[in-house]
Amino acid sequence: MASVEIVAVGTELLLGQLVDTNTAFIAQHLAEAGIDVHATHAVGDNRDRIAATIRAVIERAEGAITTGGLGPTIDDLTKEAVCDALDLGVELYEPALDQMQRMFAAIGRPMRGNNRKQAELPRGSLPLDNPNGTAPGFIAFRSDGKFVVSMPGVPREMKPMLVERVVPFLRERLGARETICTRVLHTIGLGESEVDHRIDELFRLSENPKIAILAHDFRVDVKIMAKATSVEAAQALIAPAQDEIERRLEGNIFGRDAATPASAINELLGAGGLKVALAESFTGGRIAAALTSVPGSSRNFVGGVVAYDNSVKIAQLGVKADTIAATGAVSAETAMQMAHGARVRFGADVALATTGIAGPDGGTADKPVGLAWFALDQGEAPTQTWRFELSGEREAIQQRATTIGLGILWRHLNRSIQQ
Ligand code: ATP
Repeated sequence: MASVEIVAVGTELLLGQLVDTNTAFIAQHLAEAGIDVHATHAVGDNRDRIAATIRAVIERAEGAITTGGLGPTIDDLTKEAVCDALDLGVELYEPALDQMQRMFAAIGRPMRGNNRKQAELPRGSLPLDNPNGTAPGFIAFRSDGKFVVSMPGVPREMKPMLVERVVPFLRERLGARETICTRVLHTIGLGESEVDHRIDELFRLSENPKIAILAHDFRVDVKIMAKATSVEAAQALIAPAQDEIERRLEGNIFGRDAATPASAINELLGAGGLKVALAESFTGGRIAAALTSVPGSSRNFVGGVVAYDNSVKIAQLGVKADTIAATGAVSAETAMQMAHGARVRFGADVALATTGIAGPDGGTADKPVGLAWFALDQGEAPTQTWRFELSGEREAIQQRATTIGLGILWRHLNRSIQQ
């Protein structure tokens, strides 16, 4: 099947000032739509170099997909470069001009000549309306039928245009008969080698669906990808593999696809009608930030305290000064009292506490940098504690501890709600 190549435009990309998430998004969606991408490119805001890149791409491939450089400013040169590469002039696209005039009237600002430039498209091209911005995208054609799809660089504008207009166009144009569907199962609490061990032969033997393991810090995802002529057929290939993997990893899969540990926790809290509180020391509120990022979390997350200084642990959570003096702030006993204090004082059903040494300073021989204690208090049952020694720089230690804390909470809720 004919292929396409992606061209991301922007000098910021070449200077390392901007991470090219657009290319990743486009590549992922085209792969899922069964459209072959044989190369990706990044090029600066230079008309000749953009045109040369496009010319080279459409010598090899059926089409080029560009993002960026469609705006009104002097360094937005993609349209001009496409015209150069395809040997086309421009023509005014009235609906884009109307939309722009209405938008400028609504905000009470005069429209400049350079805005009008945005409503001009390469002659004979197919416009791609941009309800989320001013610059329309377009699909321009060379006389032999090869094409260039150009979309804005702003991800919020590019994404709906790609999904709603460009992918259907490409599937039709390139005769893509196959589609790829992906299911991701997110696990927590198991190491990569353990996941690998449990599903090893499945993923070695399976060609379609293909199974892959992706390890993050203290989280492992299992990706199941199937290729078929329809979404339904691809999903039918995924289903038995998914059932088998879910059986083998039971108790550790917190969610599928877009789920996050926090969204899974929020669902369990909702299902169990439970409220949670936090007492965070060295995670500095990161667990609270994760929980509150989920819409509707106010129903189940009561609140938390960042009890960094010992005086706050004592005054706000009722940790005993004697305990800190005897065992230190980073200890099972302190963590237990922090969790207990948070649960009782915040009127929650369950509370999680973290205390640890994020470094780079503050470590000793028996309490090294990376030492972390977690405690979970749930009222009747005895308070549970966990000890970890985490490696890495300060930020990595804090991030890992956050994942571990969320994992502890999820596993506890998952077990208690299933009982
Ligand atoms: P518009 O005219 O709608 O503003 P544009 O096509 O002119 O869009 P650019 O000026 O190239 O877009 O980029 C605008 C912003 O979009 C960039 O500052 C950046 O924040 C984001 N952006 C551009 N290209 C990319 C990319 N490849 N990946 C992620 N973000 C990008």
